[in-house]
Amino acid sequence: MRPSPRQLVDGLVAGDRAALARAITLAESALPRHQELAEEVLELCLPHVLPHASPHGGGAVRLGITGVPGVGKSTFVDALGVHLVRERAETVAVLAVDPSSPVRGGSILGDKTRMPRLASEPRAFIRPSPSGGSLGGVARATRQAILLCEAAGYRNILVETVGVGQSEVAVADMTDCFLLLMLPGAGDELQGVKRGIMELVDLVIINKADGGNADRAARARRDYENALHLFPPAPHGWTPVVGVCSAQENRGVREAWDIVLRHRAHMQAGGWLGRRRAAQARRWLFELIEGHLREAFLRSAAVRERMPGLEGLVEAGALSPLRAARELLDAWETARKG
Ligand code: GDP
Repeated sequence: MRPSPRQLVDGLVAGDRAALARAITLAESALPRHQELAEEVLELCLPHVLPHASPHGGGAVRLGITGVPGVGKSTFVDALGVHLVRERAETVAVLAVDPSSPVRGGSILGDKTRMPRLASEPRAFIRPSPSGGSLGGVARATRQAILLCEAAGYRNILVETVGVGQSEVAVADMTDCFLLLMLPGAGDELQGVKRGIMELVDLVIINKADGGNADRAARARRDYENALHLFPPAPHGWTPVVGVCSAQENRGVREAWDIVLRHRAHMQAGGWLGRRRAAQARRWLFELIEGHLREAFLRSAAVRERMPGLEGLVEAGALSPLRAARELLDAWETARKG
């Protein structure tokens, strides 16, 4: 029999990984009935989520990680996760936002096989990206998954993304700290970094600083530091820090985490972490409202009836989009009243 929301929550809070996985699956489902259940599960979980500024030293650390394919994200997350569980006695959940994943065949990011060492750690939980969804759907599910993992007792949440489309913006908007992994040999690459990403970043780590790459990595670090200083200072006063590491050789990983904690202390001291989370919660609220309104609008018979004709007129240039939108919205409103 299918467990009730209460049973799922009791299970996941008690450390039952299957219950946690099932709760996340519900959050990922597009079926309205599943979404209702997921909502109930989340409500029941909230008392178990440590607030970010709790007297017990704060809630979970939410770290977003991005970088081009091949930069070493999974190697880095594997090394960082193992460092956290083994050397800092921490618990770690790894989530992923990869809206590009194919519907079948699963997603690439957050795949256990990409993090072989961490996957065998009992204090770690790895969940691949929900596959085949729109960015909005994937982000909505991942936001819920973060809270579910925190209710299950995971104190560090690593959210990985490939950086397709707006996925970096979405991940930066659900985490406390946003880390960009880069390759040595900046210069040209700096140009390749999508505009706007640098403004989201709290921490840049240049990976693969090993073999013959050490000098290039050091040069890249200086280049990035100089480039980042050109940005106007953020209101919270944190200037993004640039570090180097070799995820493969396990060097610089501890130092990278130290920077994450330094960033956290800085943000907490000024009340900025609370403000960041509050702003994220507010944006999440409005995204949900917009999503529900859009669905209800597109489902409405009155809208569906008029939509093709009006769309055709707009495409042909015979009707302005403004007028067409007004007619559809009026039709929707009239139908709802009637
Ligand atoms: P992702 O696509 O960003 O997740 O990158 P992966 O973690 O899969 O790494 C891509 C390739 O780079 C793999 O062959 C890794 O073994 C290699 N790699 C990852 N980290 C390092 C590193 O620190 N140094 C070197 N030399 N290679 C690395």
